[in-house]
Amino acid sequence: MKLSCQRLEMPLEHAFTIARGSESVARTLLVRLEHDGLTGLGEAAPNPYYHQDIASAENALADMEPVLGDDPFDLQGIMERLLDGFDDQRAAVAAVDAALHDWIGKRLNAPVWRLLGLDAGRTPLTSFTIGIDEPAMIGRKVDEAAEYPILKVKVGTANDQEILETVRRHAPGKTVRVDANCGWTAANALENLRRVAGFDIEFVEQPIPPGDNGALAELTRAGVLPIVADESAVRPSDVPPLAGCVDGINIKLCKCGGIRQALEMIHLARGVGLKVMLGCMVESSLGIAAAAQLAPLVDWVDLDGHLLLAEDPFAGIGGQGGRLTLSDRPGLGVTPRGATAIGE
Ligand code: MG
Repeated sequence: MKLSCQRLEMPLEHAFTIARGSESVARTLLVRLEHDGLTGLGEAAPNPYYHQDIASAENALADMEPVLGDDPFDLQGIMERLLDGFDDQRAAVAAVDAALHDWIGKRLNAPVWRLLGLDAGRTPLTSFTIGIDEPAMIGRKVDEAAEYPILKVKVGTANDQEILETVRRHAPGKTVRVDANCGWTAANALENLRRVAGFDIEFVEQPIPPGDNGALAELTRAGVLPIVADESAVRPSDVPPLAGCVDGINIKLCKCGGIRQALEMIHLARGVGLKVMLGCMVESSLGIAAAAQLAPLVDWVDLDGHLLLAEDPFAGIGGQGGRLTLSDRPGLGVTPRGATAIGE
């Protein structure tokens, strides 16, 4: 198998800000896996919070080719070797996992969700994310998101109250979930939870930094709002200890290492009674499509990274009105948009 990658730089519609930083251009890697006349595609969205960046992902990908072997169907063996050698570069591992699934789907002429035995009709609507901003801009973003029935609002600031007042003024009847991205502390989280609960909130993602499941358990026991772990739920081994501490986990391919690792997390979560959310980074429709193949298995979907881009280099996963499309096209089901240099 031949592996190569190319940098993608994708300007965002609006600068995207969360509790720990801001970006106006999404930088990811397009990964091509060539074998036996077919090309599988995947996307790596490395995240500095998980000690990954474009350079570390590129370096990892450059070293992966020799351990792939010559059978793309040997997913179990390939993933064991990749996780063994590149455990800390799971965004790059996820891109290869996606490209392998895309290749297999193209070879078998079937979409990946069908190979996984799933019903595309059970895909939940995705939320649309409103990043941190000044109140006037928040109002404008919420107005621009009129077509999306579910909003995910970034909080974890000194102005959470003002942010949610603005959101509710512009979207009084919508389902709204919030994500604090570790922005609160064990000392002030309960007070903050009670404050945001007044805005009719569906659940809160990652109120406090990871590493203190006991504090998450206390917040969950307080029963103010359901709590979903994101930064505390990186990979499969993180899931069993979260049982009883939170209501659900947010799985992202770039954190865990791809579709196969995500499936393991979903099964572990179900086994200990946790709900499951599927999330993403800011990435193109290619990366979103890999995660979306699993959407029929989860309770909540937050796969909107491609909807935040000014121009998406891939098409085929939809998302308008919150409806993702699991197409009948083989593999991941996305195609390069227009006359780009991406090609297959
Ligand atoms: Mg989150």
